[in-house]
Amino acid sequence: MPENTPETRPFTATPATPPAYAVPANTVLESLETSSAGLTAIEAERRLAQYGPNLLPKATGPGPIIRFLRHFHNILIYVLIAAALVTAALGHFVDTGVILAVVIANATIGFIQEGRAERAMESIQAMLRVKAGVFRDGKRVSIDSQNLVPGDIVVLEAGDKVPADLRLFETNGTYIQESMLTGESVPVEKNTGSVDVDTALGDRVGMAYGGTLVTAGQARGVTVATGRESEIGRISGMLSGVETLTTPLVLQINIFAKWLTLLILTVAALLLVFGYFVSHQPFADMLMAVVGLSVAAIPEGLPAVLTITLAIGVQAMARRNAIVRRLPAIETLGSVSVICTDKTGTLTRNEMMVRSAVTRTSSYQVEGNGYAPEGSVTPLDSNADPAGMKALHELARAAALCNDAGIAEQDGVWHVNGDPMEGALLAFSAKVLGDHGAIADGRPRRNAIPFDSRHRFMATLHETPDGQGVIYVKGAPERLVEMCATERLPAGETRPVDRAYWLEMAETLAQDGQRVLALATGPAVAGASSLSPADLTGALTLVGLVGLIDPPRPEAIAAIADCREAGIRVKMITGDHPGTAAAIGRQIGIERPEGVMTGADLDRLDDAELARRIMGVDIFARTSPEHKLRLVMALQAHGLTVAMTGDGVNDAPALKRADAGIAMGLKGSEAAREAADIVLADDNFASIAAAVREGRTVYDNIKKVISWTLPTNGGEAMTIIVALLVGMPLPISPVQILWVNLVTAVTLGIVLAFEPTEPNTMRRPPRRRDEPLLGPELAWHIVLVSILFLAGVFGMFSYAVDRGYTPELARTIALNTLVVMEIFHLFFIRNIYGTSLNLKALAGTRLIWTTIAVLTAAQFAITYIPALQTIFGTQSVPLGDGLLIVAIGVVLFVILELEKQLRLTLQRANKRPAPS
Ligand code: ATP
Repeated sequence: MPENTPETRPFTATPATPPAYAVPANTVLESLETSSAGLTAIEAERRLAQYGPNLLPKATGPGPIIRFLRHFHNILIYVLIAAALVTAALGHFVDTGVILAVVIANATIGFIQEGRAERAMESIQAMLRVKAGVFRDGKRVSIDSQNLVPGDIVVLEAGDKVPADLRLFETNGTYIQESMLTGESVPVEKNTGSVDVDTALGDRVGMAYGGTLVTAGQARGVTVATGRESEIGRISGMLSGVETLTTPLVLQINIFAKWLTLLILTVAALLLVFGYFVSHQPFADMLMAVVGLSVAAIPEGLPAVLTITLAIGVQAMARRNAIVRRLPAIETLGSVSVICTDKTGTLTRNEMMVRSAVTRTSSYQVEGNGYAPEGSVTPLDSNADPAGMKALHELARAAALCNDAGIAEQDGVWHVNGDPMEGALLAFSAKVLGDHGAIADGRPRRNAIPFDSRHRFMATLHETPDGQGVIYVKGAPERLVEMCATERLPAGETRPVDRAYWLEMAETLAQDGQRVLALATGPAVAGASSLSPADLTGALTLVGLVGLIDPPRPEAIAAIADCREAGIRVKMITGDHPGTAAAIGRQIGIERPEGVMTGADLDRLDDAELARRIMGVDIFARTSPEHKLRLVMALQAHGLTVAMTGDGVNDAPALKRADAGIAMGLKGSEAAREAADIVLADDNFASIAAAVREGRTVYDNIKKVISWTLPTNGGEAMTIIVALLVGMPLPISPVQILWVNLVTAVTLGIVLAFEPTEPNTMRRPPRRRDEPLLGPELAWHIVLVSILFLAGVFGMFSYAVDRGYTPELARTIALNTLVVMEIFHLFFIRNIYGTSLNLKALAGTRLIWTTIAVLTAAQFAITYIPALQTIFGTQSVPLGDGLLIVAIGVVLFVILELEKQLRLTLQRANKRPAPS
């Protein structure tokens, strides 16, 4: 447990002052020259200039020189350096120079790309700024937590991350999880008391430390230390490890590349022995050949290209509003086979409006637009008793008072400050009663029980103008009907509650897709200032119901259809009423005959039974966050890759357990974001589908990079081995091979990292979670293309030798054949799932054509420019042979395409069910 000495942590400038946790909160407020109403904006600005922003010191990673040198610490590069030494020892200094130049170029490209990728990651992470609720100029506002200053009054709520070190002066069932600082994962209860100076950090009950998480309740505190002065700031060097740009898949490939290198070195050594002792070739020649082989077979450029592919994937997702917090999620997203999603705000717009109101005797239709407090409220029954309006007025009063939101007009449009549902209630209340502000002023709030998705109600305690206490409650109808003993009649009197009536009315509204809330009221002791659940039991009177509409997002409807086509199941998991959930499900295309399962149904099933039933049900209603965890596990039991959304603090376990945990960026709590792999900047379901599409694209592109790179190496290596075995001169020299591997392979390989999504990406079923990347299909492709490369290169070399060309010219022809074949192979690889033989596929992208143009120019340069001819040992190729080389590329393309079509046809035939 990090210990903390009082002298190092004064909350004012004087070292003699005892630490904030050891003195009463009032003393801290005084000494920071602030009050519970907060600082003024001007003072806050002054303090920001004095204390600096509330940012944690950056972890100081290694400097640029070390980072540059790190690119040499790689077995592939060691082999190249050894090759340079061998060539130097043999006096082939041109080769040595080229190899070293390539080694340095490789490190430089890696260094620059890594820096770029890291900066891109940082800027994406910066989109995840933490907000803090503070009081400035006496008003509650939400600010970027980096603008927090000592003396600021901060409001904490369940799910918040504490933005700086706070001395608490008001707590309400506050629990904070401090494992970040203490290692203790059980949340500790906080109060406003002070403790001894030498109390350990974990026992300082009156403090909330920056970086810890509020798991329950609410609190207010005064900021005593920010940024590097805070407890976490002082140890953050230990915490903020820089995430390297890698994923399990890439790691696996890097390990594969290392083993491949060792294998190649072993084969090279055996060849050396064979050539020298068996074929009796000169040792120096053999050594050069073996160097050529090692250089040829090792995919030097692969790690750099894979890193770039990932970085591009992260950026593409950020553009689609999905911010990746943990890199492996990119891979997982590509294999998601079921998405469990919230309803409110994700599938619907979370733009609410009260459409219906129901009292014991009448139903009303509410008209209006958005959150504007204007619109008519008309009884559906024209003979309605005007006296019944009394109950409607009480309903509107409860709606306005049991409410934490505000609505305000800006540029002619009404906006909500807070929960949209509560904003809609305020607009409704104003439509019935006029100014809702006046209602609130007349009945000041004394205390509240906040809404919790587990108990599904919220209650407030108010003082009436005549000094009496009154309670207002709103919540899920089933819940409130249970809590109420009586119901309100039109003229104001009460009688025992008719539960069946209210539940039936709620069901009717829900069937129409409306979100239903019940509102109740009850008496409280005069002068009471605290409210507990015990005050609510048995003493409440049900006043009425309201039904709210929340239209589905049109883009979510389209995204659900996309998911269905992509073989991805979508399951809605909501806290809402089953009727409402089913109606919304119908509107957006999530519907199954088995219907809706509720949280209560889930509780009745054991895990095995749940796993059996879960595949048949797509809508889960009246669930609590705990149910989400069970649902994730039940789906995973079927081998599915599960994406789960969440926003509340209690959703964290399910988000962690899911294969891809997705938190809401707008309405989500900090706790949910911390637990998630991905944060949605716009809370929109369509962004999840877009992220899955990007995930699939990244996986495909990684696969394409590998499928394209490895056969090139395989073909080169086989060419050399065959030449050695048959005792022919090498068709391509080591320097030329290096050129191919590092210059052409990296430039063309990077093109694949930028490949756009293939048209049928979202029409394929999800890849199996355990599907190996380097599976039989890829292995076959590598072998096939390697053999074709061997045939092409060797064939052209033999052809040139036969025609009596010089060895240099023969090599130049072989080299150009290899590069041309690489280019045609690239066009083939772009469409691994469909045909490459249509105009769109052949048209390629601008990037492809630019790269090919540059590469062709470079190839012409090393073939025809005399200075480069000396370095690369090349000679000008006659036109006729040049055309022949291009023809070889075309032949390769045709063979590969025919093989692919044959394979795809066979696969389709195998999948088709046998006729019965
Ligand atoms: P989802 O986002 O998954 O669709 P939800 O918003 O429907 O979830 P909750 O927020 O858990 O689910 O709400 C569940 C129920 O609790 C609502 O249907 C409503 O009846 C009630 N409720 C929601 N918010 C409040 C609130 N602020 N005060 C009182 N009751 C509420």
